[in-house]
Amino acid sequence: MLITEPQATARAAQATQIAPKSIHHFINGQYVPGERWFDKRSPLNNALVARVAEAGREQVDAAVRAARAALKGPWGGLSVAQRVDLLYAVADGINRRFDDFLAAEVEDTGKPMSLARHVDIPRGAANFKVFADMIKNVPTEFFEMATPDGQGAINYSMRRPVGVVGVICPWNLPLLLMTWKVGPALACGNTVVVKPSEETPQTAALLGEVMNAAGVPPGVYNVVHGFGPDSAGEFLTTHRGVNAITFTGETRTGAAIMKAAADGARPVSLEMGGKNAAIVFADCDFEAAIEGTLRSCFANCGQVCLGTERVYVERPIFERFVAALKHGAEHMQLGPPEDPATGMGPLISQEHRGKVLSYYQKAAALGATVITGGGVPDMSAELQDGAWVQPTIWTGLGDESAIAREEIFGPCALVMPFDREDEVIRRVNDNAYGLATAIWTTNLSRAHRVAAAIEVGIAWVNSWFLRDLRTPFGGAKQSGIGREGGVHSLEFYTELKNVCIKL
Ligand code: NAD
Repeated sequence: MLITEPQATARAAQATQIAPKSIHHFINGQYVPGERWFDKRSPLNNALVARVAEAGREQVDAAVRAARAALKGPWGGLSVAQRVDLLYAVADGINRRFDDFLAAEVEDTGKPMSLARHVDIPRGAANFKVFADMIKNVPTEFFEMATPDGQGAINYSMRRPVGVVGVICPWNLPLLLMTWKVGPALACGNTVVVKPSEETPQTAALLGEVMNAAGVPPGVYNVVHGFGPDSAGEFLTTHRGVNAITFTGETRTGAAIMKAAADGARPVSLEMGGKNAAIVFADCDFEAAIEGTLRSCFANCGQVCLGTERVYVERPIFERFVAALKHGAEHMQLGPPEDPATGMGPLISQEHRGKVLSYYQKAAALGATVITGGGVPDMSAELQDGAWVQPTIWTGLGDESAIAREEIFGPCALVMPFDREDEVIRRVNDNAYGLATAIWTTNLSRAHRVAAAIEVGIAWVNSWFLRDLRTPFGGAKQSGIGREGGVHSLEFYTELKNVCIKL
């Protein structure tokens, strides 16, 4: 069994009142207990919510062998249409158990239920449907060619699965980001071994039940839990039975995974950190820019890879913009997930809170003007042991400060004035990261110019977090290697083979 308590009743706010459950690995269609166990604590109040299995090398090896066997077994023998039907059944299965996924995700992350209900869980299901639809419509290449004997030859290309894909996931959007990789991997005919974040093991584990109910053959979808170095993450990425590795997480971790993948020259897809900028021109729709910037700074407690931590505001509207951001930040309601008024939950863990608070202290020590926040909020007695921090806005520091250069991954932003378009482009680009930007202007030509000049994988104009899943997703510079999404996922999850036939 996956859990010892009925999932449907596991409301996050009651985490302290129910017995901790046990989260098992999912290997070859079966739930398997751990060789060792670790504790998963609630971000809301630090209560113990689950004991999680930790995989050693042998369990990771069992998962990889199961995935390899499934490639050759019933999964490999399915037609595209049959695979598509199964992926649709998985998506329907997630939707059927929507409340279970919602409860699990909220319990692991502490995020507002409204957010998980509208973003995390629906996208988890959509990721299977989108890539099922995509694989039905994959174009193929065909070339006729001349040959010396005059008979000619034809060439056509075929896409074949790369094999067993290792999927390493972060904790900020657990189901969404995991299925963003598992959906296309399975659509392309691969099998997977998933290593969810140690902070968010539940929805990946629960998906095993959905896979079984949908009739996905054993071994196609496997989950091993644990940490990174010297644990399940490293054992999976160094396992030579893994043909390709797709990763989302910190840039430093991505570099370690790339090194592991070099052994065997295995391909990697890396979606990594960011230090994203919003660029607000004086001619913007002010209200829209404020609303979008507040969301991009504080959604999911600032724990969104695409979130904004640098805000460049054209000088004529700087003071007014800062005042409006302050107003918005101070009206952000922190609270329990099930309260519909809650706009922001806690950070993921005490450890991450320690990191974010160290930046809050660093900003103050560097002489930042703290416009709002900068510390720990007063919470009610039942929440005071959680990983809460205040939404925070600074001014008064420049581009060279650590606050402007390093990813904090918390609900905070440094707001800086600028005077000219070429100046702001240069300053935004003067950063090691290049994931996303949001440009706020009503000048169409300027929008195109700036979007073209900013060194990022994703540029939004007058919006933030609008995502069409058919579009390429990924980061420039140290924010990523490769693009996933739509047909771009095919490049990673398939091997393209050319067949040349002499006529
Ligand atoms: P992380 O890098 O600490 O961990 C991510 C995953 O890697 C976890 O499952 C972890 O256990 C595993 N891991 C750690 N070390 C490993 C190793 N040596 N070998 C194998 N696996 C290892 O990241 P996180 O703290 O979980 O997530 C936050 C980070 O993710 C932020 O930097 C954020 O920007 C980034 N992120 C990026 C995107 C994107 O699409 N670009 C999306 C979400 C999050």
